[in-house]
Amino acid sequence: MQRVYLDNAATTAIRPEVVDEMANVMKNIYGNPSSTHVFGREAKALIELSRKNIAQRLNVSPAEIYFTSCGTESNNTIIRSCVNDLDVTRIITTDMEHKCVIESIKDLEVRGKAEVIRLNILKNGDVDYAQLEELVKDQSKKTLVSLMHANNEIGNLTDVKRISQLCQENNTLFHTDTVQTVGHYELDFKDLGIDFASCSAHKIHGPKGAGFLYAKKASHIKPLIAGGGQERGMRSGTENVYGIVGLSKAFDLAIDELDAHIAHIKEIKQYTIDQLQESIPGVAFNGLSANLDKSLYALLSIKLPFHDTLIGFELELAGIAVSQGSACSSGAAKVSLVMSTLYSDEEIDQMTPLRVSFSYETTKEEIDALIATLKKIAEKHQLQNA
Ligand code: PLP
Repeated sequence: MQRVYLDNAATTAIRPEVVDEMANVMKNIYGNPSSTHVFGREAKALIELSRKNIAQRLNVSPAEIYFTSCGTESNNTIIRSCVNDLDVTRIITTDMEHKCVIESIKDLEVRGKAEVIRLNILKNGDVDYAQLEELVKDQSKKTLVSLMHANNEIGNLTDVKRISQLCQENNTLFHTDTVQTVGHYELDFKDLGIDFASCSAHKIHGPKGAGFLYAKKASHIKPLIAGGGQERGMRSGTENVYGIVGLSKAFDLAIDELDAHIAHIKEIKQYTIDQLQESIPGVAFNGLSANLDKSLYALLSIKLPFHDTLIGFELELAGIAVSQGSACSSGAAKVSLVMSTLYSDEEIDQMTPLRVSFSYETTKEEIDALIATLKKIAEKHQLQNA
């Protein structure tokens, strides 16, 4: 059976060029980067070259990039340190963030360390910018705004530059979770004016277990993990040298081939939208997902016009892997926070959300397989309701 992978927002296939680069390091560079002898220095040099490369591509200083194990660790470190070390006592965020942001903020809230304000979400899935503008004017408490760049479930893009300007004008720190956008867009962190950001290698055809956090030089956050003082004291623990090299290589490939990848993936996304609209009457899209410029181009969040808690399983039987931002208010499957923020229980009971996410390798034939299976499922529901 043909296997179709349409879950690239969850993770991507590692690129062979990245594997080759990593294998070379695994085989030949085994010194501990903290050792002062030549074996250690060789490993250390690779880390610093990777850091310099990544920093250059984001137009920041290498001293502002700290390697971590993943996006989750990066976001946790930033958010917790803002409260623990930078006197932040108020966080403005949303219920639409990734779980690692939601849970670290909730933890600080229940411990009484920070007041948390969750912004209203508009029907189109965007944050309420007007509400944010009003809230940041209150400077009685040191505030962190934490809003993701691209939503990993519906794809809405946040106007990061607008928010960072607002935060700068109001003496407020700004963290943006860029896990879904680094390597998908040419980002200039300096120009964006953000204080903190995060990245995960496995979202850009790099290895699992490697990521970085960006912290503007002026923001003196402190480490989550204490020990031997690696990463200039920010993240102790012997470095994942081949992971870091793999991350840097994956980032290089992503940016060097970006224009071609964007063109291909946008075409695939538009094709998916057109085919769905032709094949499934009543199909719609969540948030701004169908807008190629206002949402992450590599992700499409589909709103099927029937309720089917088994759809993930049915697609799996046809060899198709997608992600189901599950929406079952009555059965065993849990409604995702994003869907329950966007829709009422009644609306959720009449729909099925489905997230398909593409890569530069996705083909129209794979989309055809998805559409054919979804069409059959939709027809089954039409018959049941007839
Ligand atoms: N933030 C966003 C927006 C994500 O999509 C993800 C992963 O799905 C993460 C953070 C967590 O990244 P990692 O899997 O590297 O911990």
